[in-house]
Amino acid sequence: MKTYLVTGGAGFIGSNFVLYMLRKHDDVRIVNVDALTYAGNLENLTSVQDDPRYTFVHADIRDKEAISKVIAEHKPDYVINFAAESHVDRSIANPGIFADTNVMGTVNMLNCCRAAWDDGKGGFGDHRYLQVGTDEVYGSLAIPDKVNPDGSPADPEHTDYFRETTPLNPHSPYSASKTSADLFVKAYHDTYGFPAVITRCSNNYGPYQFPEKLIPLMIHNALQHKKLPVYGDGLNVRDWLYVDDHCKAIDMVATDGRLGEVYNVGGHNERANIYIVKTIIAEVSKVTGDPEVNEGLISHVTDRKGHDRRYGMAPDKIKAELGWYPETPYEKGIVKTIRWYLDNPEWVEHVTSGAYQDYYQKMYANR
Ligand code: NAD
Repeated sequence: MKTYLVTGGAGFIGSNFVLYMLRKHDDVRIVNVDALTYAGNLENLTSVQDDPRYTFVHADIRDKEAISKVIAEHKPDYVINFAAESHVDRSIANPGIFADTNVMGTVNMLNCCRAAWDDGKGGFGDHRYLQVGTDEVYGSLAIPDKVNPDGSPADPEHTDYFRETTPLNPHSPYSASKTSADLFVKAYHDTYGFPAVITRCSNNYGPYQFPEKLIPLMIHNALQHKKLPVYGDGLNVRDWLYVDDHCKAIDMVATDGRLGEVYNVGGHNERANIYIVKTIIAEVSKVTGDPEVNEGLISHVTDRKGHDRRYGMAPDKIKAELGWYPETPYEKGIVKTIRWYLDNPEWVEHVTSGAYQDYYQKMYANR
């Protein structure tokens, strides 16, 4: 039995990871440590809340005492650090909390793990720490000269991609905080031999994503016949990663990735934002048969400050070393995602009304 301490496990990717691991492996225990900010939603985990292999701990990754206590009590073999402030627009409005949570929270996690895992002889046993990072640390790529109608490069062989060796060049306060966190993780590995590995993923989508992010926002607004706000000309390109594919990559890198290394996760699902919005309109109108869901809902709004133009990942290293590749093409993943949102109106209603925040009180306060 291996124990995973997962931080931010009530968030979008973290909760998908908890569900994925418990589904995939019989011999794992998961301890989910989450501060339950606006983005943390324990309703994502109702299906496992009574599973004896799962434990929730309400704690902040910046809290030395609380984190040391969780580690002492549960003795995790692996720590996977998902917890973060994750929304770029919020970081532009309020950068301080991003430095606090993403940088200082990560440093606290590293300190607590290092103290608990140090065997006194300069080693850390078989423990492993994985930092969940982002492709945004690499900055922005130019749109290639020739693109397909969906925004993907027409000549992928001769196109620039983010590689693990690409210089770090963050632009937003969010990506600056994630870059700093990655550099602390690297420094702990290089200085103390701390057993850490870093993954950097592209834009995730799938079930349980908070509807402030592009895909769930568009699905939600389309269903309600609300405007679909698209930044600028809509030609910014992101490399879309279905969340289960990401969870699989984290599982593989946590177990078999080389310590001290970075692994890019994503790849070859580059699509322009306007294409994303149009495919969502087409699919939602097909499923609901609602003629009011149409491209007339699209509304171009003033571009985000410092908006990166294109992200595109080359996942060659993780493919060559661990055999991982992104299994879900965007066109398949988006259909699954839209169906999930349509099949779970209660989840959407609770999130959009704020009712999800009472869930912890109801379910856990008296436990
Ligand atoms: P999210 O915002 O959905 O979830 C973040 C979770 O962290 C929430 O449950 C929140 O309550 C928790 N949290 C926040 N501050 C905390 C603190 N101080 N202590 C403990 N818990 C805290 O984020 P997400 O989209 O699931 O992203 C998870 C990780 O993946 C983040 O590190 C993010 O930077 C990274 N990432 C996300 C994407 C993406 O497309 N969503 C892409 C690249 C990288």
